Amino acid sequence: MDAEQLREHAHRMVDFIADYYKSIESYPVLSQVEPGYLHEHLPDSAPKHPEKLESILDDIQQNIIPGVTHWQSPGYFAYYPSNSSIAGFLGEMLSASFNIVGFSWVASPAATELEVIVLDWVAKLLKLPKQFLSSGHGGGVIQGTASEAVLVALLAARDKMLKIGKSSLGNLVVYASDQTHSALQKACQIAGIHPENFRVIKAYSSTNYSLDPEVLRKTISLDISTGLIPFFLCATVGTTSSAAVDPLSALGKIAKAYGMWLHIDAAYAGSACICPEYRHYIDGIEEADSFDMNAHKWLLTNFDCSLLWVKDRSALVYSLSTNPEFLKNKASEEGKVVDFKDLQIPLGRRFRSLKLWMVLRLYGVENLQNYMRNHIKLAQQFVEFVNSDPRFEVVTPQMFSLVCFYLRPPPNIQDDGYKLNKSLLGAVNSSGKIFMSHTVLSGKFVLRLAVGAPLTEERHIKEAWELIQEQASILLGSLSL
Ligand code: PLP
Repeated sequence: MDAEQLREHAHRMVDFIADYYKSIESYPVLSQVEPGYLHEHLPDSAPKHPEKLESILDDIQQNIIPGVTHWQSPGYFAYYPSNSSIAGFLGEMLSASFNIVGFSWVASPAATELEVIVLDWVAKLLKLPKQFLSSGHGGGVIQGTASEAVLVALLAARDKMLKIGKSSLGNLVVYASDQTHSALQKACQIAGIHPENFRVIKAYSSTNYSLDPEVLRKTISLDISTGLIPFFLCATVGTTSSAAVDPLSALGKIAKAYGMWLHIDAAYAGSACICPEYRHYIDGIEEADSFDMNAHKWLLTNFDCSLLWVKDRSALVYSLSTNPEFLKNKASEEGKVVDFKDLQIPLGRRFRSLKLWMVLRLYGVENLQNYMRNHIKLAQQFVEFVNSDPRFEVVTPQMFSLVCFYLRPPPNIQDDGYKLNKSLLGAVNSSGKIFMSHTVLSGKFVLRLAVGAPLTEERHIKEAWELIQEQASILLGSLSL
């Protein structure tokens, strides 16, 4: 590593990146390339001799950028946001510079200690119960993704139950609504939960697609009567489909009554709960054993940075720790430190707390709160647009910054709206101006507009709506011919 060469190359790269952001609106938000496109443009093997940065940047401009879907574009409204920010970006740079592998405290004490401190900061912003703070038996740990978070929580819950010795793996049952992210299904597969013991409880429009506690209670009673053991309940705050919020207080009471581990997946919406007016969505968290939110979705922290808090770290350590000779060291043996390798799946880990710390410091809590409030306000504006056009309807109440809406099928066509809305989505996305995604709710193909890209302003919402209206008119016009 030659420092002067780094300076020169990094300056050039920063210029390239700044130009990219300046011109981001000129690119189609959803990449329009066909599968396998890149093979035509790149050689079959790696270069034998060094190439110039300029020629690589040319390739990026010509060949890579066309195959990029621009998640940071102000016209990005698909899935959920994946925020990049100057602070997050600088934190990533710094993390890449140190390039430590902080599996245990001794491998880089600052990495572990900063993570503990920053997760306590965020826990306090979220007003999490004090058992989730590092001063007791609990605390936070940064995972790569919400999927890893639910997996480690499930493994800890499973082993806690098996340790007691009253159950075998084949008897353990997991509960969640059918709106729960597929990450839970994957976690069950990995954890060896019998596929028939994964209870997916249907959520209906009558509860705005949240899990009905009474149905859950009945399902559990039935399982117990057949000798099964309920052990894990996953509740979601802000489901992936429609941002539904499961009723945590009622679910918490059930989990407690049956001795189940309660995990809360707030991957997207958890960030908004640092605003006092949205904190009530996690009321009831007192009964939870684990809580997870992705700072890399909506909290201006570049991917990846999923924040998991648990009340009892030792449950994770029991499931995940190993102690090979080559990692033994005085600090760990004296039990004075946390070794994060024991609270996650991999051994190695990046210095991810740096970027979150930089985000919290460079923006400050008030700016972060106002940032999310603005997105929620923009989503409200979009709801007003939809409501103003009788051809459309808002399908579920707007939650956070997500709007689920639908183009009503005219009575003269043979379509229940499924094909119509699918075609509308295709037309809108292939325009390249915006990118939205969809869900299916009660059999309806529903369009989702998730506000949350850092560069999105009021004008982008207005332009998105005009585009949707225009494409709907073209589509409806072609059907009535
Ligand atoms: N949970 C919810 C509610 C989500 O919306 C998502 C992704 O959008 C996930 C989990 C999975 O997130 P990750 O990619 O961090 O595993």
